[in-house]
This record gives sequence, structure tokens and C-alpha cells, in this order.
Amino acid sequence: MQARFVPVAALLCTTLAAQAQDAPATRGRPIVLHAARLFDVASGRIVAPGEVLVEGERITAAGAAVAHPAGAETIDLGDTTLMPGLIDAHVHLFLHPGTAEDLQTVEESVPQRTIQAMLAAKADLMAGYTAERDMGTEGAGSADTALMRAIDAGLIPGPRLRISGNAIDILGGHEDANDFNPAQHVLSNADYANSAEQIVATIREQHKQGSTFVKMYETGPDTMVYGELTGKPTVAGDPGFWRFHTPYQYTEAQLQAGVEEAARLGTNVGVHAQGEPGTLYAAQAGVASIDHATQLSDETMRLMKAKHIPAVPTFLVFEYFADHAPSPEAARREHAMLEYKIHEFHRQVAAGIPFAVGSDVGPFPHGTQAREFELLVKYGLTPLAVLRADYLNGAQILRWQGQIGQLKAGYYADVIAVPGNPLQDISAVERVAFVMKDGVVVRR
Ligand SMILES: [Zn+2]
Repeated sequence: MQARFVPVAALLCTTLAAQAQDAPATRGRPIVLHAARLFDVASGRIVAPGEVLVEGERITAAGAAVAHPAGAETIDLGDTTLMPGLIDAHVHLFLHPGTAEDLQTVEESVPQRTIQAMLAAKADLMAGYTAERDMGTEGAGSADTALMRAIDAGLIPGPRLRISGNAIDILGGHEDANDFNPAQHVLSNADYANSAEQIVATIREQHKQGSTFVKMYETGPDTMVYGELTGKPTVAGDPGFWRFHTPYQYTEAQLQAGVEEAARLGTNVGVHAQGEPGTLYAAQAGVASIDHATQLSDETMRLMKAKHIPAVPTFLVFEYFADHAPSPEAARREHAMLEYKIHEFHRQVAAGIPFAVGSDVGPFPHGTQAREFELLVKYGLTPLAVLRADYLNGAQILRWQGQIGQLKAGYYADVIAVPGNPLQDISAVERVAFVMKDGVVVRR
């Protein structure tokens, strides 16, 4: 029975791919985007004025002035700054606010969650995000494959996506249904893998179902424990009694098995890793990014610099949980976590490790996550460093290096316009006024 359906599926994929490559009707003549300014990622400078020539799905020229071919449509965006489309290296399109994260995956069907994910993808795109890495469907399996293919085929609006299907987790790990009645057999939000062999088998299954990278949980549950003084103080003003606690899930060798299998398939591994020794194992194994990255030892940071492995701090989700805790006790714990994270981030900035920008959006509303840029500046990076982290390191870990993240000939025509100068006021990226993806205007 399976064999009978293969040709049909293959035909469908071919048709979708052909549609994606054909220029849609809206992509007829060349377009010149004109604005008061343009952000040049490579030089780190604002160019004035700014122009981008778009032909088909690609940029063919960019700078202060470009050729205006005969018949080109000029779009004057006035007093704005042209920038590459934003990259979010850590999203959850299959999560939405309103219901507790662990409960929505239990109560809502996969079809219902897929419709929510379509709305999320559109909201993110309209906010200026033209590329995203979806860090796990959290129990919706490979539904992200359908979402990604529908976007690529131009059937629905959304960012270009890297997807992982369900993430990979251990039995009783970070994503398992640990707090439910065992007799109900509530499913994990991720796929189980408890050994190197199982990691490889799970990656192959997810790949078969359409995943384009691998997400693994390396630490968890991650929490702050209030108790006796066990080391040096970690949180100012509450000396010594808050302790960060985060068990590792996989050994370095097990993570390495995942990294090697991902490489065999031409892709990479992103990990949820909040603290030691899990963050060290992840850096040793050579993952593509270390997400959340709350606690990094000197040796871990040395390896991240040497191997150019970005940390993805995801401050916004920590801020959200601290401000929306279900009880005063939880609020104290979440605020202690945020304070500890900020404290550690200062060390990471001083150490000069690479960063990428990811928000962990999903628990809070899609389309609002550009505040992450503002938080990274608030806690110690310059606006230029944050923008470069987003565009250059984001393109690297999404494996679209040389394709996205710059306004440059040959790159995809993913372009946004923001009011003001983002190097002077980073919050400009929260007020996106124009979005083009793949050479098609999607918001004006
Ligand atoms: Zn996440």
C-alpha cells in the first residue's frame, strides 16, 4: 500500500517545487526599492539614500543608487531604512499564548494546531521575519513539513523555514509529560531517544518525514532552586540562596552521534542547553547553536569562540515567564532566573562569544518578538552587534549563508523597511513598515 502512494506523493512534491521555482504573476518586472537610508550589514554602516534592485526572487544590485532598468517599477518608501528581512533563530510556530504550553499540546488536535501555525507564520512574516528556525512542533510531529511546503509553494504566506518536526528528548526529560497522571499515558512533546543508536534512528525517521535540521534537548528541567548556600552567590540581592539547577540529558558522545548523523544528511543540530555540563558537551560535540545558553563555563565559551558556535539567549521568553508567572512563588523563581541570566550574559558579552537572535516566540504572541533585539541591547550588546548577530550568525545556523541576511547582489530579495535609524534606536525593528520576501511585496 505504501508503494502505491509513493508516486503520488513524489508527483505532488514535484508540482509544488515547480510552482515554487516559477515566478508568480506578481513578480513580473524588475522592482527598485528606494528609501532615505539602507543598512549595509557588511560594513556596518548606514548608506543614504538607499536603493535595492530586485529581479525575480533575487537582489541584483544594492547601495546608495542602483541602475533603474527600463520598465522597472520604483517603490518609494520615503523616510525609512532598508534592511534585510529579520531572522528568528528560535521560534515555535505550533505554540500560541492563552493556554498553558503543556496543556495546549494535550487539548488541541494537530489539525487545529496546524491552522494556528499558519496564522503564526503569517504574523511573523508581517512583522518582518523572512526566515525562521522552528525549534520543534512540541507534539505536532511532522505537521511543520506541510506548513513549510505550503509556504515554499506560495500557497500561504510565511517565512522561509528550517524545521525539526518533533524535537528529540530523553524518557522523563525536559519535554516529557512528567507532571500528568501516569495512568493517562500523556504523550511526550518530543520524540524519545535514549541512546546514540536511538538518536540516529530518530533523526532518520524525522528526516523521512521532512525535517530539515535536528533539535535536541540537552538540559532540563532547568530551574532555580532556593536553598542552602552551596557555592558563590549567583543572584545579586539574594546572596547565595538561589542556585541554578540543570541536569544534562545526553553525554558528549551521544550528542556527537546526532551531530554526525545530521551532517550525513547535510544539516545540523540545534540544542536547548541552559547550563553546565550540558552546554560544554554541546560545544564539544560541535552543535550549530546553543539555545538559551544561560550558563556557560570559561571552557565552553572558549570552544564556542574557536568553533564559532553562536549562543541564542532568548531573553524575551524569560522576561515573559517572569512577568506572567502563575503564582507569587513561581514569579520569584522566574525573576531569579532572569536576573541570573542577565548576570551570566554580561560575562558572555565580555568573553566575546558569537550570538544569534532567537526569541522562543509561541508562549507569547507571534509577530511581537522583535523586542528581543531591544533586550539584547539593554543587557549589553550594541545595536550593530545585535543586527550582525541576527543576520550573519542567523544565516549561518539556518544554513542559508550567502543567501540571506544581506542586501547584496545574488541574495534572496528578502527586504524590510523600518522608520528611523536602527543603529541609533534598535526598537526601529519593532515598527516594520514594509516587507518583501522572495521578491514579492507582502506588506506595504
Ligand atoms: Zn524553544
